[in-house]
Amino acid sequence: MSGPLIPEFFSADSSSFRPSAIRAFAHLINDPRIISFAGGLPSPATFPAGMIAEVAADVLRERKEVALQYGPTAGLPRLRGAISSIASARGIRCTAESVLISTGSQQALHLVATVLLDPGDVVLVELPAYVGGLSAFYGRSAQLVGVRQDEDGIDPADLRSKAAQVRREGKRLKALYTIPNFQNPSGRLLSAARRAEVLAIAWEERFLIIEDDPYGELRFDESAVTRPIAADDPELEHVIYLGSFSKVLAPGLRCGFVVAAAPILQRVQLAKEAADLCSGMLDQCIVDEICERDLLRDQIARVRSFYEERAAALLTALETSFAGRAKWTDVRGGLFTFLTLDDESIDTRALVPRAVEAGVIFVPGSAFFVDGSGANAMRLTFAKEPDDRMREGIARLARLIS
Ligand code: PMP
Repeated sequence: MSGPLIPEFFSADSSSFRPSAIRAFAHLINDPRIISFAGGLPSPATFPAGMIAEVAADVLRERKEVALQYGPTAGLPRLRGAISSIASARGIRCTAESVLISTGSQQALHLVATVLLDPGDVVLVELPAYVGGLSAFYGRSAQLVGVRQDEDGIDPADLRSKAAQVRREGKRLKALYTIPNFQNPSGRLLSAARRAEVLAIAWEERFLIIEDDPYGELRFDESAVTRPIAADDPELEHVIYLGSFSKVLAPGLRCGFVVAAAPILQRVQLAKEAADLCSGMLDQCIVDEICERDLLRDQIARVRSFYEERAAALLTALETSFAGRAKWTDVRGGLFTFLTLDDESIDTRALVPRAVEAGVIFVPGSAFFVDGSGANAMRLTFAKEPDDRMREGIARLARLIS
């Protein structure tokens, strides 16, 4: 077949996919000469490789007929039960039947987008928002409308006004996509009062909340309230809750989950059957065994203290080099802080080539804002570099900006 004919075979939705602005940095993130604040990856130092090796060996020896076989589309039954216990401990009313295991929570985002969205449907997204979520919604040719955040997360007044505006324009508002806990990319925590308000607005304006919570367990500050929005929607009438083991165990174990009301979960299951029949059973068996042996609790404690130290080092470096010139999130968990320069005329995208030359890299803020704003911001992760390199990297960035 000759080249020029091919485009006529593509679906309209396939032309709606947008490349991730972050993937463009992938080759720089792993260059040892460059101090990277750009990646969103968990640190390999937190991966419990020894524990996984031991559990995997046992699983392969003792449960090969399960671990190496196809499994149920909704997931390994015992692991669905363990996940429902995890979700219940977070305050969500659910049973094993309310849980579907996905191939990472990214697949859950894709499946939820598939069952909810028709072309032109509106999804409200945070300003800034997680780019992987945006990709899933763009892939359904949805229209994304940004809702402002401040230091306490989503601004309820703006949420109400954007929902009303969508309605006035005669468009179909389907969902709000939000990451209330230590958001990627802002690191912000949605305040408890705002969670209640956001849920009330979803009821009033009749839209669903896609609550994505991969970072809630990475809490450094015990006083941080991470209770999911879903916990206050006991019948799960308005909230679809997503979680993941990627940040507490390892993202190579592609294990995420959806907790939702039965009618939604049934549709998601049908979509998943078409996508991959079932998630990797070896991965599920490993995670299942880790839960069964109660190894997760200590692992989470180790991961928390690792990132807590890293976060403190980055915040100190920012205080030293950026005080009086920028504001940044006072992170209480997760992997990121978000820095906004006081000088609104600076576009951080334009700084990237000089930053790379100086041996440092970050993600420019504009990548995360669907309304084209955020040019004077940048996302900084503290997951990648040891403390001394973070100090040096932040000092280099500060020199570039002055
Ligand atoms: N949601 C958010 C907010 C994320 O940051 C990520 C990973 N960067 C994901 C979902 C996807 O994670 P996974 O598929 O590994 O569970």
